[in-house]
Amino acid sequence: MMIIAAKACTGCKLCEKNCPFSAMLVVDGTAQAQDNCTLCGACMNVCSVHAIHIERMAASPEELAKFKGVFIWAELEEDETGERLTPKKVVLELLTEAKRLAGTLGEEIKVLVLGDGRPVDTGILAAHGADAIVRFENKLLWPYSTDAYTTVISAMVAAKKPSIFLLGATPNGRDLAPRVGARLKLGLTADCTMLEINDEKQLVQTRPAFGGNIMASILTPFSRPQMATVRPNVFKVGAADPARRAPVEDFPVSLQRGVVRTKILGIEKLTGRGGGIENASVIVAAGHGLKSAENLAMLRELADELGGTLAGSRAIVEAGWIPHTLQVGQSGITVSPDLYIAVGISGAVQHIVGMSGAGTIIAINNDPEAPIFKVADVGIVGDAFEVVPALIKEIRQSKKKAA
Ligand SMILES: Cc1cc2nc3c(=O)[nH]c(=O)nc-3n(C[C@H](O)[C@H](O)[C@H](O)COP(=O)(O)OP(=O)(O)OC[C@H]3O[C@@H](n4cnc5c(N)ncnc54)[C@H](O)[C@@H]3O)c2cc1C
Repeated sequence: MMIIAAKACTGCKLCEKNCPFSAMLVVDGTAQAQDNCTLCGACMNVCSVHAIHIERMAASPEELAKFKGVFIWAELEEDETGERLTPKKVVLELLTEAKRLAGTLGEEIKVLVLGDGRPVDTGILAAHGADAIVRFENKLLWPYSTDAYTTVISAMVAAKKPSIFLLGATPNGRDLAPRVGARLKLGLTADCTMLEINDEKQLVQTRPAFGGNIMASILTPFSRPQMATVRPNVFKVGAADPARRAPVEDFPVSLQRGVVRTKILGIEKLTGRGGGIENASVIVAAGHGLKSAENLAMLRELADELGGTLAGSRAIVEAGWIPHTLQVGQSGITVSPDLYIAVGISGAVQHIVGMSGAGTIIAINNDPEAPIFKVADVGIVGDAFEVVPALIKEIRQSKKKAA
């Protein structure tokens, strides 16, 4: 329900200008919501005198039942040419999981696509399970900005009423989801590692809690949609069906320049060793057992020989040896390379949750009781300062032989 404090309203028309649905009108100097108001909250957000208030009560089961469908925000990135936009890998991971959830609920999967007018690779979304695509294009949507995306996504969610809304827990997803949640007065479970549907057809959102020592299963019984973010690399991408098609529906919404309060002056891409570890196929990860930052040089050499990337545990991030962008684990990044070599890493649960999805895990540790060996496919009990140089030598020799 929207409450407008007539005494406080100055009739400034900011709400009228910024309503994505043209549902606010200033009549006789006071704002009034029209019948097509979706309660998306855009007016409340821009009202400088706080004259607009939206009250959201716990919904009845009958009202909750009106929310249908599993929605996913398709975060896009530019392809190599910069001429097309393509969904990030995490979107395909979410689609694979959404297929299972939507199948249990007997509902459809819709993907929200926000672009700036460049062609978007929507075929891949259909091939991975999207039943329909809801699209909105506007030059203000590139590059990403919190204000523009919150306005459009909140409007889409408020109008379309999905029962579940999933986003990737990427930096932008982590920025956007709580904003949309706050705008629509919804709960949000961040960084889920498991999603299930229970007997009451509710989404059970599971994530590590209390420092990763327990797994918490969270329900959203009184509001819809049930909103969750999922880290990249937690779910696998399923097989694509190139024969599948999904109709594209353009969403009627307006986005005014005044909504966007930030200006991107430039973008610098991280390159080389500081680049992202999310998509690396080989990772050599260092732990506190390496003793000092200087000793990381031998791990860089090993990573170079294998065409891989250096990463590490939180202990060495806190010691200042590597930046946080290279931290694997619960408070860092979840990775799923083909090969993960953990050197001098004990294997704390907060580290394991970030790398246990790797194809092959090799652990090198001088303590035979180190927990890392429990998740390792190959365990080498030994001193890293002997094992790693021997490994590098062996790899170089076998490369020479092969040449
Ligand atoms: C809320 C919370 C979030 C956290 N998030 C993360 C996270 O995202 N990522 C993360 O990594 N941690 C995280 N942690 C910290 C985590 O609990 C551990 O403290 C951390 O992972 C330990 O790092 P480490 O294994 O490098 O160091 P240590 O635990 O000190 O282990 C060093 C290991 O090196 C071995 N070693 C020593 N010398 C040698 C040698 N010469 N050769 C071979 N092996 C040797 C030792 O046997 C030991 O097993 C988090 C903790 C909390 C509370």
